[in-house]
Amino acid sequence: MDHLLNDQHKLVQKTLRDFTANEVKPLAKAIDEGERFPRETVSKMAEMNLFGLPFDTAYGGAGGDTVSYAIAVLELSKACATTGVILSAHVSLCAAPIATWGNDAQKEAYLPGLLSGASLGAFGLTEPNAGTDAGAQKTVATEHDDHFVLNGNKIFITNAGEADLYIISALTNPDARHRGISLFIVEADTPGFSVGKKEMKLGIRGSSTRELILDNVTVPKANLLGKRDKGFAMIMEILSGGRIGIAAQAVGITEGAIEEALRYTSERKQFGKPIISFQNTQFMLAEMETKKEAAKQLLFKAARYKDQGRPYAKEAAMAKLYAGNTTTEVTQQAVQLFGGYGYTREYDVERMMRDAKITEIYEGTNEAQKMVIANMMMKEGAA
Ligand SMILES: Cc1cc2nc3c(=O)[nH]c(=O)nc-3n(C[C@H](O)[C@H](O)[C@H](O)COP(=O)(O)OP(=O)(O)OC[C@H]3O[C@@H](n4cnc5c(N)ncnc54)[C@H](O)[C@@H]3O)c2cc1C
Repeated sequence: MDHLLNDQHKLVQKTLRDFTANEVKPLAKAIDEGERFPRETVSKMAEMNLFGLPFDTAYGGAGGDTVSYAIAVLELSKACATTGVILSAHVSLCAAPIATWGNDAQKEAYLPGLLSGASLGAFGLTEPNAGTDAGAQKTVATEHDDHFVLNGNKIFITNAGEADLYIISALTNPDARHRGISLFIVEADTPGFSVGKKEMKLGIRGSSTRELILDNVTVPKANLLGKRDKGFAMIMEILSGGRIGIAAQAVGITEGAIEEALRYTSERKQFGKPIISFQNTQFMLAEMETKKEAAKQLLFKAARYKDQGRPYAKEAAMAKLYAGNTTTEVTQQAVQLFGGYGYTREYDVERMMRDAKITEIYEGTNEAQKMVIANMMMKEGAA
């Protein structure tokens, strides 16, 4: 796979590998156990311009492409899946929508901060009764002279409480259901905007996942992102981009687990030989590696399609579906190869197995990906 990367991609890969070895991997266990957001790593990522990686240099971006971004999330997640999703949520779900649909004033106001990492971004879509059925949301935005007033609740929001800027979806035309949704740029210190319960999670435990409460939040009309009532189609596009980030996270966790398993099975001896000498171990490793490579191909195919300006929704959904399934399976196999030691917190594969599962759930469950893929197939078939 790596032979398909150009010099710029290889440089990103090398830079990230050095960074994760020195700054990310050493913290992964502690932030998981302490359920602690790694603010110090975020500052270092900002210094490296990682938050602006796939954006134009005009507003402070690094001028990289989607493939570079996927490499960055992959390498971070290989060391620490929590750190990977902080970047993914910021880039795909907050900065990218502003770069795509923001007007000049919005870009000037918000992109320099987001791309430099001076401000962290998040995306509030999910509600207690609107998950897969995103169109069932109840948060409303009522129009006044020069502003909207937002009221409602969002749940499970990544980076919530740590973020400075949120993209929030709300109904501007409640009777029209998903045809009446708009997106708003909301600053964290706006009166009436607050964060609620912090979720205690199975994995990615250093990532902040919290509720958002919108209680008469006044948002100037200037902060309406894109066209009024056209938010649902934008949300679908945002999630397609996000799926590339989550597929990269899944491939990264998988790659990390395989590296750990390869090392451990070479060192661990039973019956007087390293357990890697048993054919059963070799066959399991071979299957893990093959599936990881297949997931990586799907990931980079989706990223390349996006970079080439081609439709990529189906490719992104397939990449996330397959990479998510694969990481759940491979991390369990890694634990199996470690035997009893794999079940203890002494080894990273235990954390990796817990971290892996979320990639089958957020930014659309596996079932939601299958709906997207099948819908695209039916459209393609009809064309
Ligand atoms: C750690 C974490 C971080 C998250 N970060 C964010 C974030 O930053 N921003 C944000 O807005 N949201 C975020 N989410 C929310 C996440 O995207 C949703 O949890 C997810 O989309 C599923 O929605 P739900 O939890 O309501 O499950 P439900 O929609 O209730 O689904 C439950 C089950 O039913 C299945 N199902 C539902 N409908 C169908 C159907 N039509 N056909 C077949 N099966 C179906 C699902 O696949 C799933 O298996 C996050 C969630 C978690 C856990």
